[in-house]
Amino acid sequence: MTYEELELKHGDISAFESAENPGWFPIEGKMFGGIKSVLAKYTIPLTSFILAQEKEKFGELRTYWDWSFDDESSSTENPVINSAKHEIDAVIDEAARESANTCWKCGQPATLQSRGWILPFCQTCAEQQNDYPSGFITNFM
Ligand SMILES: [Zn+2]
Repeated sequence: MTYEELELKHGDISAFESAENPGWFPIEGKMFGGIKSVLAKYTIPLTSFILAQEKEKFGELRTYWDWSFDDESSSTENPVINSAKHEIDAVIDEAARESANTCWKCGQPATLQSRGWILPFCQTCAEQQNDYPSGFITNFM
């Protein structure tokens, strides 16, 4: 999945942006699809989901979001809204876990991790880096 495909399919998510890690685009695509499924299940409009930020941090995909409701009946005290929140958070947590084990460059399983700026790498992509092998450790994420 390219960035363009990701944007075309999920650009309707409010404030859509994507971490610039091509190996993670499929994970992000799955995550956005999962979020939309939860919203649809609870008949919550897509516009109520506000993607605040999506970025790479400590070698994994971090996604921050919030609700935005026009009417007060849809407050965060509402049990339906609460259930949806838990399910969306679970989808996001799963994407974070998966990203930590996926090469950020190519999407293959990550067996190595760069030191310093922590990022998951597969063997092939790690070998293309100037500081290989000293700049890498085994990925235990
Ligand atoms: Zn790779």
